[in-house]
Amino acid sequence: MCLRMPQNPAIFAPPAAAAASSDLAGQDRAGFAAVVADLGLPAFRAGQLWHWVYHRGATDFADMTSLGKALRTALAARFSAGRPAVARHVTSADGTQKWLLRLADGHQIETVFIPEDDRGTLCVSSQVGCTLACRFCHTGTQKLVRNLSAAEIVGQVMVARDALGEWPASSESRRISHIVMMGMGEPLYNYDNVAAALRVIMDGDGIAISRRRITLSTAGVVPLMDRVGEELGVKLAVSLHATNDALRDRIVPLNKKFPLKDLMAACRRYPGVKNSRRITFEYVMLDGVNDSAADARALAKLIAGIPAKLNLIPFNPWPGAPYNRSSDKAIERFAEIERKAGYPSPVRRPRGEDILAACGQLKSASQRVPASRRARQPMPAE
Ligand code: SF4
Repeated sequence: MCLRMPQNPAIFAPPAAAAASSDLAGQDRAGFAAVVADLGLPAFRAGQLWHWVYHRGATDFADMTSLGKALRTALAARFSAGRPAVARHVTSADGTQKWLLRLADGHQIETVFIPEDDRGTLCVSSQVGCTLACRFCHTGTQKLVRNLSAAEIVGQVMVARDALGEWPASSESRRISHIVMMGMGEPLYNYDNVAAALRVIMDGDGIAISRRRITLSTAGVVPLMDRVGEELGVKLAVSLHATNDALRDRIVPLNKKFPLKDLMAACRRYPGVKNSRRITFEYVMLDGVNDSAADARALAKLIAGIPAKLNLIPFNPWPGAPYNRSSDKAIERFAEIERKAGYPSPVRRPRGEDILAACGQLKSASQRVPASRRARQPMPAE
């Protein structure tokens, strides 16, 4: 059963970006410096603006009281500090929240907040749709429409913070403690924008979520994995799901391009990997496909020597899915074999199933259409 959240008029308002010429929210330090230089202002104003946008979450220049009235008026005339529009916001019976966000060009993406006892995790999308077509994933049935900009990635965090009342960013009680790039899309097929967005999100004077609390999940885009460790230093998760190329070619087709041998080599050399900073291997449990005791032993052998933990994900069914969820007994047997091999193997409790917000279930209504037709299209109905 989906529950609509009590509507907060502020977050359901159309984005200010519709009326203004350029959006500050989502820009990096260089972008803010350029805005200030363009207005002929001293450089320190960039830091003030940054503070208002990313630390205070201000969306109205009139509220930026340290800037002086004339400057606020000048900024408002040329810029906005808006958000993607919230087309729909639902809360699961288990407290998971999902936002369907409508972007300026009408495409839609999803962002999910998962509250737990000791943390709150925001699952952020990197693309509209996905090219990779993993067989168990609902998002993968929706073809790639386009990459998200850095602003659209940061905007997801800001929308969630708005809804959860988490400004200023230093608030002790803030609920979003962790970010996972595990929403719609393959983040490493949009590396530049994802990296730019994560730099904004990690900046200590703004949204300030530490790299130790950010996990980027990849299906195995091997050539870019080193850069993630070297340039961003965030944690790595790998969507593994199979222990031999024949099966992985089938359920994660990217494997045909970057087979297990290359993927595991990239994991072994991932910069900064150690016992206190393990790689998470995600493994969706598919009934009769990859969940036997032999599969479990093969997995332990495959990752032997890598500081790692496992995330066993009972398959979350979606309409038309070609697989079933493994039985509890099979999942427990699998987890036990991994634990005995020395790998922490929590079984991820399905979250947000009633609102199709669980792992692998995200899918928006956006479809790829030619640019010429897109320009003529009305906004999708809410
Ligand atoms: S699991 Fe991730 S990479 Fe695979 S199709 Fe789904 S969104 Fe794309």
